[in-house]
Amino acid sequence: MRVAVIAALGAWLAAAPPALTPPVDRMKLADMHDSFAETHNGHAHEAIDIMAPRGTPVHAAVSGTIRKLFLSKDGGITIYQFDDAEARCYYYAHLDRYAAGLREGMRVKGGDVIAYVGFTGNANERAPHLHFAVYELGPTKQWWKGKALNPYDDLVRAVRQVEGR
Ligand SMILES: [Zn+2]
Repeated sequence: MRVAVIAALGAWLAAAPPALTPPVDRMKLADMHDSFAETHNGHAHEAIDIMAPRGTPVHAAVSGTIRKLFLSKDGGITIYQFDDAEARCYYYAHLDRYAAGLREGMRVKGGDVIAYVGFTGNANERAPHLHFAVYELGPTKQWWKGKALNPYDDLVRAVRQVEGR
């Protein structure tokens, strides 16, 4: 009986997504609101914008692998990161620049500095921010087309954890 319970707990823990580290340095709850369901520039936003001055360090939200470094018209300088289980993809956009030495395939730990906040792509230069999205990866692990998940509640938990509340 106990073995079965432990095995079930082990399976649940393995499947549970990792808790987040705040992806923006010294982030506060007031730096974001739940903008997941908003329409931005004619598209479903499906992400959270975290306001911060240009140059603020961006941290890996979880441990995992830098899967793709990509420059896009709307997102500007971006990062796609997988978690260790390759269950989810974490997307960071409008970056000012990458951290020195960052490269595709690199392993990072949650909290590592991977980039700096900016306003590249279609962000307003008067409102630099991190556009942060989380996607559930399908079996083919295509980082450019996962199902968007709302990370707002996990971000709130992450900030409160750091603030000791
Ligand atoms: Zn955004």
